[in-house]
Amino acid sequence: MLNIILMGPPGAGKGTHAKWIADQYKLPHISTGDMFREAMASGSELGNKIKDIVNSGGLVSDELTCELVKERLSRPDCANGYLLDGFPRTIPQAEALKAFGPEIGREVNLVIDIECPSEVLISRIAGRRVCPKCGASFNVNTMKPKKEGICDYCGTPLIQRKDDNVDSFKVRLENYTKSTEPLLDYYKKEGLLHSFDGTLPILNMQSELLALLGK
Ligand code: ADP
Ligand code: ZN
Repeated sequence: MLNIILMGPPGAGKGTHAKWIADQYKLPHISTGDMFREAMASGSELGNKIKDIVNSGGLVSDELTCELVKERLSRPDCANGYLLDGFPRTIPQAEALKAFGPEIGREVNLVIDIECPSEVLISRIAGRRVCPKCGASFNVNTMKPKKEGICDYCGTPLIQRKDDNVDSFKVRLENYTKSTEPLLDYYKKEGLLHSFDGTLPILNMQSELLALLGK
């Protein structure tokens, strides 16, 4: 069974590879970023509470985030594996998952880390356009959709995320370095970490992932 965490700095390609892994291995793709954006778009209480922090690139509180993920992972569609994208992002979140994971029968057994230098990240983020409906990512320079401005998968007009600007990106990268990078050591010690080069062409990355995860 594949109970996977996908890690990497903003712009490393988590969303793109997550979509592929989830399709390939029939796993529910659980993206905390997507869940928070959906909450904001729906104008729910949670959405209003987190809007300013998410748009400025900050991190939502560990308490709120862990509660949301625990509830989501508890659902029956995660019983045969899952792919977590964007969680955990802090040591306290990892500790919480380590405690509640086995409790709800969802212990993590693999961590995939996508590495990418910051110069590459900034240019990817600047060109990124996303589908507000299905969450697919494109890039106006390097990963153009078939039809300009339109999602290949569901035909929805693409948008630029509010936090995909230079100032928010800086905050996100700082948070990554300070709060999330220490998790690499944490999962290395647990013997779960597998690191990949996020600058590889997508197809090469997919064949490396196939080699790790099986066909
Ligand atoms: P990124 O492109 O930065 O990896 P995500 O889509 O994963 O973006 O997340 C977008 C935003 O949602 C983050 O900048 C943060 O505000 C919030 N967020 C997502 N996951 C978490 C988490 N695990 N803990 C706290 N905040 C989170
Ligand atoms: Zn779409």
